[in-house]
Amino acid sequence: MCESITRQASASAHLQVGGFVLYSSVDCPGQLAAVVFVQGCSWSCGYCQNAHLRSFGETAEGRWETVEAQLQRRRGLLDMVIFSGGEPLAQLGLQAAMEQVRALGFKVGLHSAGASPRRLRAILPLCDWVGLDIKALEADYPGLTGRAASGAQAYACLDQLLQSGRAYEVRTTWHPRLFSAERLLELAEQLYQRGVRHFRLQRLQARACLDPSLHSWPPVPEDPQLWQRLGQIFPDFMAR
Ligand code: SF4
Repeated sequence: MCESITRQASASAHLQVGGFVLYSSVDCPGQLAAVVFVQGCSWSCGYCQNAHLRSFGETAEGRWETVEAQLQRRRGLLDMVIFSGGEPLAQLGLQAAMEQVRALGFKVGLHSAGASPRRLRAILPLCDWVGLDIKALEADYPGLTGRAASGAQAYACLDQLLQSGRAYEVRTTWHPRLFSAERLLELAEQLYQRGVRHFRLQRLQARACLDPSLHSWPPVPEDPQLWQRLGQIFPDFMAR
């Protein structure tokens, strides 16, 4: 027992926290959740909205021990703790931090782009809900993330998630200048064939993007016809 606690505390001390939100009702459907923003991501998507979380390293915002102490005081007031980022799978301390959250009595959520199938396999049994980003068709990933293997990694994570039976949503951030509506529908059809039933289309917010050349892109227009076609593919669909 003592050995187990020591191991967990030691490992989670390496979780680099870039930010912490105490109460959120919008990050997991139906759950009042705290959100822990984990520092670091090795991909470089031009449309990243969390550029300040991409670098690895300790930040002034927080140590895991500080977050854990705040969670201790909120036992019984929150349903879930969601690990977001950055890319939480990039952090070795994620599993131990999740174990501690479960020990405090909270459910565990994860936001991920699917950058590590090996680490996802290890932590999936600890997760109650996963929001997984699928950015594009697998072949289009390198152009979006700057990483050759990123598509294979993300799709391996998707298959693991679907096989796990865990509650989930799959999210795709989209703008017609990123890829066409026809390509989006092709992606949606492929995701459905793969087993995805819960799908969210996230309209790209160009002004907040890491790449300044995207800032002049117009807002994604309402497209009732496109939304309707996506709604016909997935039994659970929402554009936001
Ligand atoms: S995977 Fe997510 S956090 Fe990483 S660069 Fe892309 S958008 Fe940003």
